Amino acid sequence: MSSIQTTAALDELLPDEPLAKAPDTAQIKESDEPFDPPAYMYKSKFTEFLWKLPQPVIALTSMIAVAIAITSEAMSPKALGEGADLLTAFLLFSPLLLLLAAERVWTKKKAWLLNWKDYAEDIFWIFTAAYIWIPLISDYYRTPISDAFEWIRENTFVPITLEATTIPGLILCAVVAQTAAEFIYYWIHRCSHRYMIAWRTHATHHHITKMSAMRSNRTHPTEFLALSFSTPIILALFGATPEVIAVSAALGFCNGWITHSNLPMRSSIWNWFFTSPEHHQLHHSHDFNDSNTNFGCGIIIWDRLFGTFSSSSYIERCGSGTGKQLSLFEQYALALYPDDKIKSL
Ligand SMILES: [Zn+2]
Ligand SMILES: [Zn+2]
Repeated sequence: MSSIQTTAALDELLPDEPLAKAPDTAQIKESDEPFDPPAYMYKSKFTEFLWKLPQPVIALTSMIAVAIAITSEAMSPKALGEGADLLTAFLLFSPLLLLLAAERVWTKKKAWLLNWKDYAEDIFWIFTAAYIWIPLISDYYRTPISDAFEWIRENTFVPITLEATTIPGLILCAVVAQTAAEFIYYWIHRCSHRYMIAWRTHATHHHITKMSAMRSNRTHPTEFLALSFSTPIILALFGATPEVIAVSAALGFCNGWITHSNLPMRSSIWNWFFTSPEHHQLHHSHDFNDSNTNFGCGIIIWDRLFGTFSSSSYIERCGSGTGKQLSLFEQYALALYPDDKIKSL
């Protein structure tokens, strides 16, 4: 089926009325935060050129570092003992620390700068995801390389197997795995902006009023459940090896942190295929039409193919509904609220 046919068929199924209409601007509370122009202006052509570099450099460095760690004898768990886990955690999370530091220096929008209360709440979201929700869900579904997906791996109809022993091979396999997984995620995400049953799990993520690398982890536990289908199934269908899964995870984490960052990164070449912070900031826009573009959180190619891509760099504010930041309780509870109440938040 062609991409145009697929999009037309889905649009026939989807309701005409948007799920979460933006309220009148009169309802939006005035903010005390500093005003930033809606479109970012680089200081010079040279500055604009420099901002094309960090995204590919960070993503590639992260993948290469993890690939070296898992292919090198000297860095193996046998050689490093308990230090191997610490090293893997450092390699995975160092891009996040780097991006958070960069946001303080090269801030794109001052109104989005996090305060200490924001940092504390985001750390809470990261810890609950890492230590409660993701382990609970992965225990239930098991990991992509264990029993639950073993049958899919053994009976897959996909003629390609994602396995590699060299660093370039692992990076290529990780990009293929992420691109295929994002195809499924693209449709889950697009439907979650159109169907209330899915929007109630996704709304929490759209009620953030500031962009930051920390914010990619602000995801409702029920959405983790939905997301836990896409990547593991693709990895199992392609028979991905644990090494490919590790490098693919590095790319996935990195993409999520970079695209939520409050930094003016924009690269015409890299961002033809990979999502830029600017693309994802537009997806978080308070403007209803803008938020219905750029559904790919790490890979933007599916938006380009299925007609939902926007290259606009104009974003006045991010958020959803009334545009105010919800309390921690509301962010968790909203998934259980009646439809009208969710739309009124
Ligand atoms: Zn969304
Ligand atoms: Zn997001």
